[in-house]
Amino acid sequence: GDFAVEVDTLVIGAGPGGYVAAIRAAQLGQKVTIVEKGNLGGVCLNVGCIPSKALIAAGHKYHDALHSEDIGISVGDVKLDFSKVQKWKSSVVNKLTGGVEALLKGNKVNIVKGEAYFVDETTVRIMDEKSSQTYKFNNCIIATGSRPIELPAFKWSKRVISSTGALALEEVPKKMVVIGGGYIGIELGAAYANLGTEITVLEGGKQILPGFEIQMSQLVSNRLKKNGANIFTEALAKEVEETANGVKVTAEIKGEVQTFDADYVLVTVGRRPNTEELGLEQVGIEMTDRGLVKVDKQCKTNISGIYAIGDIIDGPALAHKASYEGKVAAEVISGHPAEVDYLAIPAVVFSGPELASVGLTEAEAKDAGYDVVVSKFPFAANGRALSLNETDGFMKMVTRKDDGLVLGVQIAGTNASDMISEACVAIEAGMTAEDIAMTIHAHPSLGEITMETAEVAIGMPIHIV
Ligand code: FAD
Repeated sequence: GDFAVEVDTLVIGAGPGGYVAAIRAAQLGQKVTIVEKGNLGGVCLNVGCIPSKALIAAGHKYHDALHSEDIGISVGDVKLDFSKVQKWKSSVVNKLTGGVEALLKGNKVNIVKGEAYFVDETTVRIMDEKSSQTYKFNNCIIATGSRPIELPAFKWSKRVISSTGALALEEVPKKMVVIGGGYIGIELGAAYANLGTEITVLEGGKQILPGFEIQMSQLVSNRLKKNGANIFTEALAKEVEETANGVKVTAEIKGEVQTFDADYVLVTVGRRPNTEELGLEQVGIEMTDRGLVKVDKQCKTNISGIYAIGDIIDGPALAHKASYEGKVAAEVISGHPAEVDYLAIPAVVFSGPELASVGLTEAEAKDAGYDVVVSKFPFAANGRALSLNETDGFMKMVTRKDDGLVLGVQIAGTNASDMISEACVAIEAGMTAEDIAMTIHAHPSLGEITMETAEVAIGMPIHIV
């Protein structure tokens, strides 16, 4: 229609940034409308965090069924029905996206289907297939997320796939080339490797998982290689040729040209913010040269009343960061003096073994001018890790020398994704190594590794000398 619908707080995009912002703003008394052009839950629930973790879990269960002879278990006839795996994965996704819808409704958030486009500083147009409607808002939170980067020489096709394509495959490939050894390529590559695919990783840099210390990423490459994967670093993917039922990928590896035949090539070389088709230029919203929206510590853009959160602003493109910023923006809109504090954003790779890191690494702490104590404790010295038959890995704790303040923790090992939360709390609360060392941890548990790493930091570990 011609008239404009008046709304109070408008949220654009219902990913982990947008839906969390909408719920929190409603809890704080705002009247909230959320608009989503695709599925509730965004990338994270539909084609990101959740379905990838489901495939990873299926890979582990299958791999364990085939390879548990060392603890006395051999299974006769292990069958993989991949279409059933995919159905189960989709059912997990549907449960969660249905849950998001129920939560939004339960918090009286008005859900609008369609694509939003800015007309001016207080107006958006929302279009669906049939109609278009103008909305006037008092406050707006932009949370439109990101999408995979397409390489010019590797145009998306049936055989040249993004993470979204890799999550939706109907059969387990015999061979797959993965371009880009970041966490998305390694997680999906490792999941398929566990399901029986021979994977070849082509990473341009000197190591896979470049955000992590080499001793950590090395454990992941070793495990992958043990599962039959080929990993090439300093490898530049050049071109792809589609064959009758597959691809031939050409790469230059340390100066030498090599070709790889595969069923699919998965391209995971980064993500691009969804900021181009929003009409942001009509509003004069300031952007960075990388196409990200510029915001201050309250997630405010340069235009009063317009906020931005999640993958479209600076910082690691992670779901928990998007949700955190969503809560801050909702509080600011509701008149609270909230600000983001990025001291303790965890980063996790759900690889084998898992990697997790929060706060400063040893190198970062030294660069920042801290005098540090670095302590380390191996999983192999922990009773729980041994009794899980998961002894690969270690925890590393970086503390300030004069008072033991915890500055950072890095973990490589099983369940690192859950263990890192204790380190997040410690850093957020300003705890020292002694505080952690004197906290009673349940026995036997992987959590004791955190206690013992803290004991190493204060020079008195019980279970290593
Ligand atoms: P998104 O989740 O991208 O949501 C944005 C939403 O906005 C989308 O639903 C989109 O349809 C909608 N939208 C866009 N434009 C418009 C418009 N004009 N009008 C209306 N709606 C619009 N992160 C983790 O923390 N842990 C993980 O384990 C993890 N695993 C991942 C695995 C994969 C394979 C991928 C691809 C990503 C993974 N991520 C993970 C990253 C995580 O998914 C993102 O950081 C997160 O989804 C970003 O949230 P967001 O709310 O900013 O945006």
